[in-house]
Amino acid sequence: MYLNCFDEIKHITKELVKIPSIVKTSGEADCAKWIYEYYKKLTYFKENPSQLKIIQTIDDEIERYIVVTHVKGTKGNSNKAVILMGHLDTVGVEDFGSIKEYAFNPERLLEHLKEMNLEEEVMEDINSGEYMFGRGVLDMKSGLAGHMYLTKYFSEHPEELNGHLITLAACDEEDNSHGILTALKVFKEMQEEGLEFIACINADYSTPYYKGDENRYVYFGTVGKLLPSFYVVGEEAHVGQVFSGLDPNLLVAELTRLMSYNPELCDISQGEVTVPPVSLKQSDFKEKYTVQTALTANSYYNFFTYSMTPKDVMNKMKQKGEEAFDNVIEYLNNSYRKFCEKADYPYRDLSWEKRVYAWDEFYNELHTIHGDRFKLYIDSFAKELNRENPELDLREFSVKIVEEAWKWSVDKSPAIIIYFSSTYSARIEITGETKLERNLIDSVNNSIEFVGKYSDKPIVTKMFYPYISDLSFMSLSDTPEDILYLEKNMPAWGSKYFYNVEDVMAMNVPIVNIGSYGKDGHKMTERVHMKHTFEIVPNITYNTVKTLLS
Ligand SMILES: [Zn+2]
Repeated sequence: MYLNCFDEIKHITKELVKIPSIVKTSGEADCAKWIYEYYKKLTYFKENPSQLKIIQTIDDEIERYIVVTHVKGTKGNSNKAVILMGHLDTVGVEDFGSIKEYAFNPERLLEHLKEMNLEEEVMEDINSGEYMFGRGVLDMKSGLAGHMYLTKYFSEHPEELNGHLITLAACDEEDNSHGILTALKVFKEMQEEGLEFIACINADYSTPYYKGDENRYVYFGTVGKLLPSFYVVGEEAHVGQVFSGLDPNLLVAELTRLMSYNPELCDISQGEVTVPPVSLKQSDFKEKYTVQTALTANSYYNFFTYSMTPKDVMNKMKQKGEEAFDNVIEYLNNSYRKFCEKADYPYRDLSWEKRVYAWDEFYNELHTIHGDRFKLYIDSFAKELNRENPELDLREFSVKIVEEAWKWSVDKSPAIIIYFSSTYSARIEITGETKLERNLIDSVNNSIEFVGKYSDKPIVTKMFYPYISDLSFMSLSDTPEDILYLEKNMPAWGSKYFYNVEDVMAMNVPIVNIGSYGKDGHKMTERVHMKHTFEIVPNITYNTVKTLLS
């Protein structure tokens, strides 16, 4: 069956966009409350009030909520359940500059954009009348609106379902995932009450891969993300005697040259390729100008994974760390030789030696030297730091722990210490080898085949959602041993950062992203293609759910 849902989903999207719900602002709570009120007015939830919940996030420094609905099908008494999920928060609006005040008003915004000198493709899309603009339209209030519509639809037609439909609107997707982590607890309770989750459908955004790419995409599985980070210790020198020191900035620069945009570091699985790493920070720790070179520096890089475990990534990073060290030592010696020739000084080899550690190797070395005293000290340092400054950025927090540990090192010669310092987004590979995975793949493919007739563009499936999403919390392709390795190489683990392997393992549900389609997510020209998003996408989801719960 094909639903005529365009107008209603367009309307809900516009209403959602009107509520600014930038992550880490009180708008997140406003938006959750609006969604809750939307459901509350429906007859089904008036009759079954316990099946609609608004829940405050756990262990959060901000007041915000998730909304969960539960529609029980009446076609049979299956305990099978499908989850529709999405997030209600958006990124900020700094990118809108002088037209910031219209970011949440699609109509007014369009008028202003028309008058700006924007690139050709954007102007074409404006003039086509096929797109809606606004903060969050693409990522992902339109996707959320589709799920709200479907929840309403099934609440009016429970006879179409043999099983349970659970819908989640989560907050804090763009930052620290408090929303989905809270939802995992709710899902666990549902499992304990007898529900069996067979699939999870997200509606996060999709976008063309290159200019002129006309395909629309549906994704099984999701990309994983790690943040390999480098603490680099050099040796300081007065600028008048540069060759007596080793500038850590030079080492970091070489690391960045070896890491950023390097296709050798792409991860390939099932014929799909991640984009290469890129640097997200590079700096030294000097606070003010002096004529002394820096002693330490720090850099970190985004790293996407499809098949690589945290240990695989660390091994690659150690290789790159050693390569960078070798290159810099060679470069320094060459420079020094040439300098000595010019100045007519006797040349001697600069005696730098490379030292590259994974955090757990460095930590264990210090533990061996200093015993439990070191371990207890670092433990309490981390906990104290978090207590004193709970708002501290996770990356900054992590490097402070490494810095503190370095104070205990006996050998003060230059070294690189590699660690992970951001939230862990799990990669999820769907292969079709389990019955549930096969079932989901077949249901989605059948649905696409049917709904595809209404679309003038090809709908293509791929095996990894490439843009990072809450899907990463619904299953785990890494093993518990892989996670243990990550834990041991993440200085903030257990003091500021918590990842509950058990909660994720308990879900272990196959995933798919059937999401909004548009362009320029996280940019001023963020826009959603209306026909595909308000009509095609919800119909793919609708028919998938009906097959899964038939
Ligand atoms: Zn999103």
